[in-house]
Amino acid sequence: MKSNVIRLSQAQLNLLERCPPQFQRVYLDQLASPISPEVQESLLWGNQFHQLMQQHFLGLSIDSILEVDKDLKDIVKALLNGVSETHHLDSDCWREAEHYRGLETENYLLTAIYDLLILNNNQAQILDWKTYLQPQNKKKLENNWQTKLYLYLLAETSDYLPEQISLTYWFVKIPHQPQCLTFEYSEQLHKKYTKELESLLINLDDYLLNLNKNYVDFPHLKNCENNCPYYEFFLSGTNEVENNINLLSIMDEIEEVSI
Ligand code: SF4
Repeated sequence: MKSNVIRLSQAQLNLLERCPPQFQRVYLDQLASPISPEVQESLLWGNQFHQLMQQHFLGLSIDSILEVDKDLKDIVKALLNGVSETHHLDSDCWREAEHYRGLETENYLLTAIYDLLILNNNQAQILDWKTYLQPQNKKKLENNWQTKLYLYLLAETSDYLPEQISLTYWFVKIPHQPQCLTFEYSEQLHKKYTKELESLLINLDDYLLNLNKNYVDFPHLKNCENNCPYYEFFLSGTNEVENNINLLSIMDEIEEVSI
């Protein structure tokens, strides 16, 4: 890997597409916003749940953890039954938890970590655990770079045809029954995502060039649909906006309603 290659995950692509200035602040200037205790708690529970699933799919026992928490035991049992039935886990397949995929382009390394990858002769299934309820808006999830990049990367880095690849989100939240949502891939979608990705990376090339050579910050989107109060200031052309508005907190709100 070249030393100056920039790693890009789905989270970075999402932010780059939605708000280039915030991408610059968070990933280049490393000015992350503080996390609220509620969000911290939710992240902790999400991490613990992912570790539990990883442990299970590595073949390690999770019984001692489940024995002390009945609600967790019930939901994990329901999830594992659902996964086994939906994805035919009993059949002859290869599977791996926390599976890494990377694809290097000229200046970037596109990366993904699949919570679970299940492969058999003619099918590749990516599974992702979400520790919240299934969102109503399927389109938003479909258009999220997690969905697009995960499918794209597997098509690009394996011998599977796009039509043989799918991504399933499993939504797990006590005390609800786990639910799942599957996105099937296709050649047509692969072409569409390839174009979208190329366009996003060309933009990033330009932004970086402008920043490094001309010291010009990443630009705002011309027709920003994020309903960001900062945009009004941007239209008015004021340069004092950064003193007046806590952009980071605005973007937190945008982030929360984005999926
Ligand atoms: S208007 Fe707001 S949300 Fe849109 S690009 Fe600018 S800072 Fe980001």
